[in-house]
Amino acid sequence: MKVMKFGGSSVGNAEKIRLVASIIKSEAQKTAVAVVLSAMKGITDALILCAESAEKGDLSYKTALGKIAERQRSTFIDLIGPDKEKDAFSSLEQMLFELQEILLGVQMVKECSLRSLDLIVSFGERMNNTVAAAYLRSTGFDAEFVDSRSLVLTDSSYGGAKVDYKESYRRIREKLKEVKGVPIITGFIGSDSQGVTTTLGRNGSDFTASIIAGASGSDVVEIWTDVDGVLSADPRSVKRAFVIPEISYQEAMELSYFGAEVIHPYTMIPAIEKNIPILIKNTLNPSAPGTRIVKDITPHNRPITGIASIKNVALINVEGSGMLGTPGIASRVFGALALAEINVIMISQASSEHSICLVFREVQGRCALEALNRELSEQVKTKRIENFVIREGLEIISVIGENMIGTPGIAGKIFSALGESGISILAIAQGSSERNISFVVDKTDRDKALNTVHDAFLV
Ligand code: ADP
Ligand code: ASP
Ligand code: MG
Repeated sequence: MKVMKFGGSSVGNAEKIRLVASIIKSEAQKTAVAVVLSAMKGITDALILCAESAEKGDLSYKTALGKIAERQRSTFIDLIGPDKEKDAFSSLEQMLFELQEILLGVQMVKECSLRSLDLIVSFGERMNNTVAAAYLRSTGFDAEFVDSRSLVLTDSSYGGAKVDYKESYRRIREKLKEVKGVPIITGFIGSDSQGVTTTLGRNGSDFTASIIAGASGSDVVEIWTDVDGVLSADPRSVKRAFVIPEISYQEAMELSYFGAEVIHPYTMIPAIEKNIPILIKNTLNPSAPGTRIVKDITPHNRPITGIASIKNVALINVEGSGMLGTPGIASRVFGALALAEINVIMISQASSEHSICLVFREVQGRCALEALNRELSEQVKTKRIENFVIREGLEIISVIGENMIGTPGIAGKIFSALGESGISILAIAQGSSERNISFVVDKTDRDKALNTVHDAFLV
């Protein structure tokens, strides 16, 4: 069996959905297939904007909602016409009606919790999968819409819920036994033990596909998108980026964690556990071989594998003479940040023990500053630690690759190339795995830094 996931970019309009359907049909002739689809391109963002406007009492959300409804209906009519699949069309209308009622509720109470937002965005995947399954049936292909909320059990961390693999796998296996024809499964969404809708985090449909593959013992998970595979850098910033034919799970995890949105980092979790290869393919160019993400890669002689970057980060330096040789400061810093639910993306500590540099998403920066000021107020007052200063508008750039392990001179080459290009580095970190060297630059230096490092190693 194989799981095929098509992202929003592959299902952006009726024409693309036709293309996706033809790929599914041709694969289904060769092997058992389960399909996972995202929302149509831009719909999740549009739903989030509607929710934010409704919460502020900004009635422009009604026009935006009208556009979403129009796009879903016209895709249905374009693909299926007005006379076929009437149940699916009423189900689409029912969802649009519910969505309107929920947003009206948000407008009335002027509040949209993460829990409500998860419910609101879930309509994107549910509507699109309803339409796509109906279209496949209308062409005589046996397909069934499957709502993954009945399959993927999660905790209640709305916006990025944790998966209960054991129970999810059980439910998925049960469901796959029952489904007649090819299941067309919603990506991204799940539900908690109370049956409340949750999501797996932005871009989470890739992860859903891998969960389905893990449960069903699939031979491969295919992630179909709008590029020819995992590239050596973000092709929008680095024109000379090229497709990497094969990459290890660990490298893919690092690249995606550090910003390569072509695959969600958690996709690798079920795949590693069950040793299932992941194949990245281009819907618009299906004959291209794509990228295989596997446990052991065929050796190659490129010194690095790829580069990725995370936008909108902020940096705080914890610095002061009082830190020297004083055990426990780091533990208090991280304890306070954990309590405030701040996710530290990168850390570096100078061996002088004189400073710890912490990097966060910009949206969490202010909150991190408050948490540190609360925890270490005494040390700041007595000047054993200097006042915390936050620096915003930064980017983390990560250079990744298995070949970096045990190879001397990589860091030297990175930083001298950056120096020659006149790029100033604000912080550096290297994991002890040696698979990743990350550094922080001002966002205005991002593209130059990406291209500089790419050219230094990969052309
Ligand atoms: P989908 O809608 O299929 O889920 P995404 O937009 O989430 O697609 O991911 C695909 C996009 O990821 C590509 O169009 C590309 O611009 C971007 N991207 C960023 N870094 C990389 C990379 N290293 N390799 C390939 N694509 C990348
Ligand atoms: N539709 C969701 C998003 O835009 C999930 C996904 O596309 O994978 O984040
Ligand atoms: Mg994606």
